[in-house]
Amino acid sequence: MCQRIAQGTRWNKCGHFQRQFVKAIVDCNSRQCMKSYAHPPSCRQPTCFQTFGPDIERDVDNVDEYCFPCRAAQARAEGRPLT
Ligand SMILES: [Zn+2]
Ligand SMILES: [Zn+2]
Ligand SMILES: [Zn+2]
Repeated sequence: MCQRIAQGTRWNKCGHFQRQFVKAIVDCNSRQCMKSYAHPPSCRQPTCFQTFGPDIERDVDNVDEYCFPCRAAQARAEGRPLT
């Protein structure tokens, strides 16, 4: 199935990826994939793929920190307000 190339930030301490935007879509050229240009528009097969595969992550910058959700979770766990 087709995949999106996502550009974003890599948070080095937790290894998470934060997507900024979708740069491109990789077409799988499958007639069984509704996201593909190869898929016939008239096809109504419920078995065809309707969703994208996992994003292809492209790091455009690296931050030597934890990402926001990780920091928020840590703050909650410690019972302190998020700074
Ligand atoms: Zn596809
Ligand atoms: Zn189809
Ligand atoms: Zn994280």
